[in-house]
Amino acid sequence: MLVKERVGEGTRFSNNEFELDFSTSESELIVHMIDLLSSNQDIYPVIDFENNEFSYPSLLEIGDTSEILGILEKLASEKFSIIKRVIHERIPVCPDHPQYLAAVLRLYCPSCFSSDIKKLHLIEHRSCGYIEESDHRLIPKKCKYCNKTIQDPITEIRKIGRWYHCNKCKSKFDKCEFKLHCIKYDHDFDISQSIIIDIPAYRLRSCGRLSPFYTVALMTKLKTMLESSGLKVNTSFKLKSETEHRGLLYVFNSDKSSAIVDILNSEDEIGDEQVSSTIVKALHLSPNITIFVGIGNISKKAQIMAENHRISVVTEDTFEKISSAVVRIIASAFGVNSHGGESGE
Ligand SMILES: [Zn+2]
Ligand SMILES: [Zn+2]
Ligand SMILES: [Zn+2]
Repeated sequence: MLVKERVGEGTRFSNNEFELDFSTSESELIVHMIDLLSSNQDIYPVIDFENNEFSYPSLLEIGDTSEILGILEKLASEKFSIIKRVIHERIPVCPDHPQYLAAVLRLYCPSCFSSDIKKLHLIEHRSCGYIEESDHRLIPKKCKYCNKTIQDPITEIRKIGRWYHCNKCKSKFDKCEFKLHCIKYDHDFDISQSIIIDIPAYRLRSCGRLSPFYTVALMTKLKTMLESSGLKVNTSFKLKSETEHRGLLYVFNSDKSSAIVDILNSEDEIGDEQVSSTIVKALHLSPNITIFVGIGNISKKAQIMAENHRISVVTEDTFEKISSAVVRIIASAFGVNSHGGESGE
């Protein structure tokens, strides 16, 4: 089949219509992130207090944490607004050494500031009414007054009060003095002085699929997969309106057969008008295979119309499912295997 017109090169994360300035390595990270998020997998941090760091394990293979965080923050910013930043953990850290995440709570006697304190309970044996003081860890096995064995402390013993006892100055008190302890530099600080560090998790916004990023990331993933099968791919992207944009992949095999993958992302229902535009492209470019990828709701009528024009319709909802469906259709039509190279028959 003759190639009548070449489609414009380049679906990097910047072109005239879609200026976003990301480097190639950033673009790869973004594709991977949106790929994960598209299948409803949130990006969660894991905090490692011992090594004083947090990371995003699902993204660790493809970049370091500071680079990943920088991009996630950009994508969550008002300008891009494709993903949502949620607070996963709030950690109080030392005001003098906020770079260290690990701080522990310490309890002190309010009179002499000793940490040598213990917690005491006032307990009552319900059946006889005898009241005694007890270390909170040691529930008596027998009542000292009526001498009955205590079988089930939860039902037989009632806790009627509690306080602390200082082993150093012997004072008793209801409330201890709380301090946070900076483990790295071995000093205490007031809780009110601590700096709060937010550790975020990220998820796709409900409207994230309408972001041009989403489609561009999908196109990038498809291009990479098809190229790894030995095919040549040109791409173009068009923002039609705030609620609609289209991406086109033009795929060539070494024997000059070709395919187009027309991706439409729309907030409104995808109807025959949008499918007509794919039919026009197919007439114009004369590929051997035409695939229409509809992200959003596609009407039954539009689906039938596409099928009548021998257009394969893909309406899956995650990157993984969309890309494997598209690659499967093209690979089987071109006789190439989907992991690279032509099948040797
Ligand atoms: Zn400190
Ligand atoms: Zn004391
Ligand atoms: Zn008793």
